[in-house]
Parts: sequence; structure tokens; C-alpha cells
Amino acid sequence: MRSAAGIAVAGCSLCLASAARASRGHWGYEGEAGPDHWAELDEGNAACGLGRQQSPIDLDAPVRAVVRDVEIHWGDSKLAVVNNGHTIQANTDAGSYSMIAGKRFDLKQFHFHHPSEHHIAGKPFPMEIHFVHAAADGTLAVLGVMMAEGAANDTIGQVWDVMPSSKGEASGPDRIAPAHLLPAGRAFYRYAGSLTTPPCSEIVTWTVYDEPIEASGAQIGAFAGLFPNNARPLQKLHRRFLLGNF
Ligand SMILES: [Zn+2]
Repeated sequence: MRSAAGIAVAGCSLCLASAARASRGHWGYEGEAGPDHWAELDEGNAACGLGRQQSPIDLDAPVRAVVRDVEIHWGDSKLAVVNNGHTIQANTDAGSYSMIAGKRFDLKQFHFHHPSEHHIAGKPFPMEIHFVHAAADGTLAVLGVMMAEGAANDTIGQVWDVMPSSKGEASGPDRIAPAHLLPAGRAFYRYAGSLTTPPCSEIVTWTVYDEPIEASGAQIGAFAGLFPNNARPLQKLHRRFLLGNF
């Protein structure tokens, strides 16, 4: 019995050691794995703590500027809808792209935050969509779209119908038009920023539209039930210019 107990204790301490290794790099939005600790969780996350071009920010008092419109060339797409434990992410088919400041960025995926990560003039929105694009040189461009509570959104409904309630992936819907998730008004904010999740790399050209789209309270509530808070807190602007094309 004594030796059996000894083995059990040894086994348990091994468990703890491997659990500690597994938790290295694990991040979340609350407590010891939360945004204040991201930089400590992995040396690759240094920018989360030391970076001076971090996202999200409060989009307030932009410098009015002549900024070229974003040219959206998005086709219909079949989606793979993934619950990755941090958000619901819809991976899109190859072929859709946007031209931003004369450079081609391919649309890879869009995902959701609740509440919004950016604020507009000090005000958060219930949700925010991020359309993540990548260029051939490895830089990213993200289009942000705020979601306000209002009429139900059919395209959101199609994604919500298949989104997994725990970690996992679902295929379908078969055909949606991601462009239906863009607002009619195309006034936008532009600034140089980062990923809003570890490793917080400062490689993102941000474009956030001023006009929100609408989703119903039930649709927002369905996402909030899965992700009560997956928004990084606001970061400082530091020595950056926030531009507005309006
Ligand atoms: Zn995001």
C-alpha cells in the first residue's frame, strides 16, 4: 500500500509538471492568462507588453486625410466555421481579395469579438467583426466592422446556424457572401497596429468602418453565451496618426 501511494504521488507530480508545460503559451481574457499577462506567457509575446503600435485603440478625433478607398473583390464562399476556444472563425475560400493602399491582400477568414475591441469616440459596440487579409510579403490587413443591435442579419444567421458550441469545426454554410457583412457607408478609420491576440505582432494595417451593421439582440446574445468577453482592452495610440477618410 505504501509503495502504491508513493507511485501515485510521483505520478501526480509528473501530471502537474506536464500541465505547467501545457499551460505555457495558453492565453485567454481573464485572470492569470488574461491580457495583462500575455507578454509573460511566452517570450514570443513580448510585443503584447512592449509594443508601441498595439491594437485595439479608441478611434477618436482622426486626422482627415485623402486615403484611397479599399477596393473589395470578395466572391461568394463556402465556409469552414471553427470554434477555436477564443472566437468563432469562418475560413473563406481562396480567391477573394482587397486592394488597400495599392497592395493586394487575400481574404483568409473573418471572426467575431464580443464586446467590440475598437471603440468609436469612446464608445464600444456590442460586437465587432474582423476580416483578416494577408499579403504575399506576410503583412496583414484587417477590416473591422462594428455590430449594433437592431434587425436580424441573415448572413450572421447562416454562420450561427452551424457554429460549434465548443472547440471544433463545422463545414458550411455552402455559399455565403461575406460582403453582406459590410456597412453601406464606407467612411473608415485607418492606422498601423497589431494583432489583438498573442503574439500581438505589429504587422497589421487596420481599416475600421465608422458605420455599424445590425444584428438582432438574440443573435448577439447567442454569441455572448459562448464568448462572454473576448475583447482585448484598449491600447495607447503613442506616436501614431489615426487617419479618417471623412
Ligand atoms: Zn479579431
